[in-house]
Amino acid sequence: MFRLIIFIALIYLLYKMIKTFNRLKSERNENLQSKSTTDRGEELVEDPVCHTYIPLSQAYKKEISGKDYYFCSKQCHDKFTRKK
Ligand SMILES: [Zn+2]
Repeated sequence: MFRLIIFIALIYLLYKMIKTFNRLKSERNENLQSKSTTDRGEELVEDPVCHTYIPLSQAYKKEISGKDYYFCSKQCHDKFTRKK
């Protein structure tokens, strides 16, 4: 019986550790992502709708009447095309 309690406690601890670890990992990834875009000195493009600057690789690119437009999201793109 005592062994079973230890076993359950270990499983519980392991589960908690994995949960914490996963959270830390995703938090770190977010930090790395936001940092790497500025550190890389990547080209920034302006969203014509909300005037946000987005790294070229993350921008939502769309060619409208022969001109390339970059948006921060599909929502901004939809807004832009609806306006015209
Ligand atoms: Zn936008």
